[in-house]
Amino acid sequence: MKLPPFEYAAPTTLKDAVALLAAHAGDAKAIAGGQSLVPMLAFRVASPALLVDLRRIPDLDRITVSPEGVRLGAMVRWRDIEDDVRLKTAHPLLRAAVAHVAHYQVRNRGTVGGSLAHADPAAELPGIAVTCEAEIAVMGASGTRVIRAADFFLGPLMTALAADEIIVEIRLPAWPRRRRWGFQEFARRRGDFAMAGAALYYDEDAGGNAVNPHVGVIGVGDIPQRLAEVEALLEGRVVDEAGIALAEKAAAASVNPADDIHASAAYRRALTGTMVERALKIASA
Ligand SMILES: Cc1cc2nc3c(=O)[nH]c(=O)nc-3n(C[C@H](O)[C@H](O)[C@H](O)COP(=O)(O)OP(=O)(O)OC[C@H]3O[C@@H](n4cnc5c(N)ncnc54)[C@H](O)[C@@H]3O)c2cc1C
Repeated sequence: MKLPPFEYAAPTTLKDAVALLAAHAGDAKAIAGGQSLVPMLAFRVASPALLVDLRRIPDLDRITVSPEGVRLGAMVRWRDIEDDVRLKTAHPLLRAAVAHVAHYQVRNRGTVGGSLAHADPAAELPGIAVTCEAEIAVMGASGTRVIRAADFFLGPLMTALAADEIIVEIRLPAWPRRRRWGFQEFARRRGDFAMAGAALYYDEDAGGNAVNPHVGVIGVGDIPQRLAEVEALLEGRVVDEAGIALAEKAAAASVNPADDIHASAAYRRALTGTMVERALKIASA
């Protein structure tokens, strides 16, 4: 389908981009890689009067690795994450998750900021953001603010972003070298959105017990979510076969997916348990 008509602007500063969004009071949209927005325009799910292209704004495509953690600028593409060898140790969970995003062509254009703002419940990066307690820095007409990932996603394709706000970067806390982690997802075809997925990590004390476990799931609710009951169950114990079996059951019991055209709720619940089980096996191996 042809796109609806729209005006187009390509500002060279964040301030100008924000001013354009603010001046159009909800009738303008930022465009980054266009991989989600252009199909939405084609299907008339969105028909803004103005598209504000972020590609000419400098510095939004930076990946910063420091002792505080990893910062990904909003215009960092999936491909940039794959190509950055520092992230192999600075954030292996992020890299593992991004390997599941779409196909090469989409990964070559799709961006971090676009994925966060689009807020698909099955998308990998929002899941990593919530699991890892990331922060999302945004700029709007009234200034900048930092939103916890846990407060950012409000529902399918809904976020805490105001109409005049632009995501500047996501900040992932530092990743200890000896951390154990696993990422698993199941999709019918390679590159499809996940029917269910699990991202998790934990550290270990001197006795080999799990410390500070974080367990997140995608694709099984309106937003990515952490499974507090599974985390409590793993805290302070060795992640062995018995522990993993308990975690699998607890994970399946603590999600409440709906039936949809892809799978029944019961199937997705069981799949969630299996994804957590497999990710824990990888983490503990
Ligand atoms: C065939 C296909 C398969 C896909 N599979 C997956 C998958 O498996 N997993 C996955 O996670 N994604 C998948 N995607 C989506 C892809 O990852 C997109 O890159 C992503 O969802 C949006 O990024 P984008 O840069 O293209 O954003 P755009 O399409 O340009 O924008 C998306 C939305 O974000 C807003 N936006 C963009 N940047 C900003 C910003 N900096 N601040 C505020 N708002 C902003 C736009 O206004 C729009 O509402 C797939 C896409 C396609 C076409």
